[in-house]
Amino acid sequence: MRNFLIMLGTTLFLTTACQAQHMEPTKDTTPHTATQHVQQQGSPAVYPVTKSDAEWRALLSPMEFHILREKGTERAFTGKYYGFDEAGSYHCAGCGAELFSSDSKFDCGSGWPSFWTPANDAAVHSERDERYGMVRDEVLCARCGGHLGHVFDDGPRPTGLRYCINSASLRFIPAEDLEKEGYGEYSRLFEEANQGNKKL
Ligand code: FE
Repeated sequence: MRNFLIMLGTTLFLTTACQAQHMEPTKDTTPHTATQHVQQQGSPAVYPVTKSDAEWRALLSPMEFHILREKGTERAFTGKYYGFDEAGSYHCAGCGAELFSSDSKFDCGSGWPSFWTPANDAAVHSERDERYGMVRDEVLCARCGGHLGHVFDDGPRPTGLRYCINSASLRFIPAEDLEKEGYGEYSRLFEEANQGNKKL
């Protein structure tokens, strides 16, 4: 009887321990929680705006093409929007989508423009980036898939996120010019999308 009770106790202990292991909250210790946050905002499987490399090269400067379409990175402290604090919105240099607002811009001393949130929940898409021996969360334009930069978990409140973005992937429109410009040079892209019954 004593041996039976010992066996029963051992079985119950192992079963409970096993369940506890399965029921343990899955705390994510990998450095990609920012991705989870962004993906919860909704990530598109297909980008509405697609172009060939030749078409992108015709629209973009060599630096813009390198950053947006070849996932390049501009040198720190060299971008035109680092240390820039005018009021307005930041649009994708590729497709014109509104990506960030000056209201969420902050200076973290990194050398790149930084924002604590996108302009809206659907503005950007994030993907895991394991290049260069690092695990980071790449930030892309949700409309054209252009590479913008990376997002990290060391940003300020209220999100705690830091969107570290290349200036060359952005085009700033001053608040007073937004309506007047009507996305200016991007109007052709909107026309193309409308002709193809695509919604930009
Ligand atoms: Fe874009």
